[in-house]
Amino acid sequence: MSTTKTMIPLLLLLLLSPLSTTASTAAYPTIPGTIDTSVSSSQPDNLIPIRNEIYGNGKIFDISHRYINDMPVWDSKDGLGKFLSLPASMKNGSLANNSEMKLPTHTGTHVDSPGHVFDHYFDSGFDVDTLDLEVLNGPALLVDVPRHSNITAEVMKSLHIPKGVRRVLFRTLNTDRRLMFKREFDRSYVGFTKDGAKWLVDNTDIKLVGIDYLSVAAWSDLIPSHLVFLEGREIILVEALKLDDIQPGVYSVHCRRGISNKMRSHQMITFSVSY
Ligand SMILES: [Zn+2]
Repeated sequence: MSTTKTMIPLLLLLLLSPLSTTASTAAYPTIPGTIDTSVSSSQPDNLIPIRNEIYGNGKIFDISHRYINDMPVWDSKDGLGKFLSLPASMKNGSLANNSEMKLPTHTGTHVDSPGHVFDHYFDSGFDVDTLDLEVLNGPALLVDVPRHSNITAEVMKSLHIPKGVRRVLFRTLNTDRRLMFKREFDRSYVGFTKDGAKWLVDNTDIKLVGIDYLSVAAWSDLIPSHLVFLEGREIILVEALKLDDIQPGVYSVHCRRGISNKMRSHQMITFSVSY
C-alpha cells in the first residue's frame, strides 16, 4: 500500500509441474509492451537476450512484474514514468555501462514490513531485513477468490483454507482486469477488508499473504487492514504479484534477496515458488 518506504520490490518465481513449453506462447504470453524474444531475430543466436517468464520447460514461472515506464504506481494517473538512466555509457567513452534507477520502493512486486504502518516499529528498526526468510520460502497455496467482492470474513470462510497452510497467494478480479498492466492506478481494486484480515489472523495459520495488485487491503479499509495484518510482526504481505495464467494449486515459494542496502526501509530481492 501507499507511499512509505518500508517495502521491498520482489522478483517472484513459481515452480510448476512440467509443461511442454519453453518460452512465450499463447498460454503464457509475453508481458505487453515488451519484446518477445522467443521469435526469430536477425541477430546471432548468442546475442539474443532471453526474457523468459517461464523456465525449466514450464516448471518455473516468474510471478513478479517487470519494471516498465507504463506500470501503475500508488494513486497516480501517470504510471511509473522514466526511472532508469545510463549515466556511464561505453558509447560515450565510459569504461563500462552503469545504470541508475530511481523509483518508489512500493513499485511493482514488493513486500510490506511492520514499520510500514506502525511508526514505533519503524523507529525500532522492524524493517524488511527483519522479515522471516523461512516464511518467505516454502509451500504456498494459490487460490482463486470469488470475483464479486472484496476479501471479507465471509469470503475467507468460503475458501476453506486448511489449518497448517502458511502461505497463500490470493488471485482476484485484479488479475482478470489486468490492473497491473494499466498505467493509471485504479482504486476499485480488490483487497482485504478489515474483517477479512482479522478472520485470517484469528482463524488460520497463514503467515504470508500474497495478492495481485498494489495493496492487500481494499481501498476502503486501507490502513485498518494493514494494522490487523502487521501488528503481530509475523505476517508478511506480498503485493502486486503477477498471477496470470497460473493454475490454482500448491506450489513452493522461494525468496532471495538481490540487493540489500541495509536501509531500514527498502531493498530489492528475488522470490520464487515450487511444488
Ligand atoms: Zn501494503
